[in-house]
Order: sequence, then structure tokens, then C-alpha cells
Amino acid sequence: MKFKIVKDSNPIMKQKSLPVSLPLSAEDKEILDTMLDYIKKSQDEDYAKKHNIRAGIGMAAIQIGILKRMFVIYYEREDGIVQYQLVNPKIIEYSYRKCALKDGEGCLSVDGEHPGYAHRYYKIKMEAYDALTNQDIIITARGFDAIVLQHEYDHLDGLFFYDRIDAKRPDQVLMNEELI
Ligand SMILES: [Zn+2]
Repeated sequence: MKFKIVKDSNPIMKQKSLPVSLPLSAEDKEILDTMLDYIKKSQDEDYAKKHNIRAGIGMAAIQIGILKRMFVIYYEREDGIVQYQLVNPKIIEYSYRKCALKDGEGCLSVDGEHPGYAHRYYKIKMEAYDALTNQDIIITARGFDAIVLQHEYDHLDGLFFYDRIDAKRPDQVLMNEELI
């Protein structure tokens, strides 16, 4: 499966992605496998250099031009690997507490600089079908993990991380917010 990363200049990125029918079709599973494979490889320095690609930790289907509510995540944490192929995710709980990455967020679809704090919920609960483990799951995520999930989820609604930055006060930290 060949694809190109769609950039934020393309209006399709602002569209809302559509629910995916379950059980998952072989075609949709192939899309998820392709995306997960890409993200994994992008973290291999030699591979990334050779193919002139950026390292990513998540990708939504819309980023390869497919308007479907699904995304993949892959990164290493001290205690192991975090990986998902989430389909039709829903955020079912949000914390009052907020957080933001102190160095800002990045996105494979965004080449421009957008300094500032992208405000996120510190803790969320997300419900989804995980095609990697073939089951319905509920993920409770905090801090960085929660930010990654919210970033990818936003793509399904046509939003970018910079839409979460206050254009007038990009450096303002909220009262209930922790920088991580
Ligand atoms: Zn992104």
C-alpha cells in the first residue's frame, strides 16, 4: 500500500472523519498495519534518514488521506512499548486538571512552526476497538500518554495541535495546568 503524508495545507485535514464499520474489513486492517509499520520504521534513525522521513509516534488515517475514525500509536516508555490500532475511539472521561508539553507538540502533517502550549486534559479515559488485540478496550491515560491520544483523536475531528494553542497568549500556563 503506497501513500503520502497529507499536510495541513490540504483542506481534507479539516474534515471530520467517518465511523468505521465493525467487524473490521481486511482493507481497514491493512490500512492500520501500514500506518503502524510506518510509525515504527520512522523511529529507526537509519531508515528515517535513508527515506527522508520524520520520526512520529502516532498517525491518524486522515493523515494518509483516508477519512476514517482510526489511528495508530507506537512509542517506547520506560516500562515497555505503548502501541494501539484504535478504531472509533471515544473520550468518555476528562479530568479537570490540564497539562501541556513544555517543548510543544509536533505532527507529521505540520511543517510550520507553532510555538506555544497546546492545552490538553491531564487524564482521560478512551474507549475504542483495538485492532491490534482484537478487542474493545478502555484506556486510562495520564500526562504524556493522554496528550498523544488526544492529539491523534483531534485529527479525527479535523483539529491540529495548534488549534489548542491560545493565539493571543501562546505562552500562558493555565491555573490547573502542569507542564510536562
Ligand atoms: Zn498529528
